Amino acid sequence: MDSARLQIARVFGIPVYLHASWLIIFGLITWTLATGYFPARYPDLPAASYWARGLIASLLFFVSIFLHEMGHALVARRHGVRIRSITLFVFGGVAQMEGEPPDGGTEVRIAAVGPLVSLALAGLFHLLSTSALLGPAARGVSGYLALINLALALFNLVPAFPLDGGRVLRGLLWRRSGRLGATRIAAGAGGAFALFLIGLGVFAFLTGDGAAGIWYVLIGWFLREAAAGAYQQARLDETLAGMTAADMMLTDVATLPAHISVAEAAQEHFLRTGHGCYPVVRNDEVVGLLSLRDVLRLGPEEREATSVQGAMKPLAEAVVVRPQTPLREALARMAAGPGRALVLDDGRLVGFLTLSTVLRHLRVREALGA
Ligand SMILES: [Zn+2]
Repeated sequence: MDSARLQIARVFGIPVYLHASWLIIFGLITWTLATGYFPARYPDLPAASYWARGLIASLLFFVSIFLHEMGHALVARRHGVRIRSITLFVFGGVAQMEGEPPDGGTEVRIAAVGPLVSLALAGLFHLLSTSALLGPAARGVSGYLALINLALALFNLVPAFPLDGGRVLRGLLWRRSGRLGATRIAAGAGGAFALFLIGLGVFAFLTGDGAAGIWYVLIGWFLREAAAGAYQQARLDETLAGMTAADMMLTDVATLPAHISVAEAAQEHFLRTGHGCYPVVRNDEVVGLLSLRDVLRLGPEEREATSVQGAMKPLAEAVVVRPQTPLREALARMAAGPGRALVLDDGRLVGFLTLSTVLRHLRVREALGA
């Protein structure tokens, strides 16, 4: 969900984004409040007054969600877990962490603070809704915000990963079952809760409440995908933990001499081996990378006239790791670039790492149960 979002603020150095899908839920809540909730409670007011209350209430609802996420973000940061961004989207908000909490206790604290913020907001708005200092309109809006924040806290406390309650559960099980085992249990609970929501949605749909039904099904579906994804990610992390670039690199690397023409490289190397990319070597030293893409950029005559060195990407633009670089780190850097890395040991080429060889390797390990 990166392309369709807009940065709206930067708070404590953390960028805050609004995703396009947020507009859907913002419109939906404003509409529901202006045409249903407020008219039912405060009859005989002009329509503009309902819409004004609806608009302010849904804006403050999103401020509440933002504060909930900010709670996660600040506690995470205090425990040394970096926060990349906070995004508000159709299902609420998400504080994106860089990496995982180091231990179960930290995970519990980071996860629990969100619902606690929502509970505190519910209490605060409840006080405001009964305060004599406010007019009836502000009291009405506060009453709604007390209710919705309470609902938000309770929903998030359901022990179903990736909800906050599910993270608390994972944190509590972490020491006994290990991170992977704890994730499996919490994600299992997440999957079960998601199915329950989907069932509830179908039931609501069949009994005539179609809008709520669709909504439950969508949230259930979203949770199901997120729970399954989290478990896959945890398994991958577990597999990769402790591995280095040397464990998965290709060691007999075919290279290209820098001085030959691109045409010769295409004819004698690319066509012969089927490799899509070669390290380029001059005087036993790696100076760059030539990929099939670079070859295809040139016309037939240019290929004759251009040397490999003239067409290659220089070493400075390539992803370079060392044999002892943790595999996870190497993969993260490869994923951000062209999907391959040179493995150099003191400037000497010792291996080549590509996403496809790593995936193949992982599949073999999985099949052999390693
Ligand atoms: Zn939360």
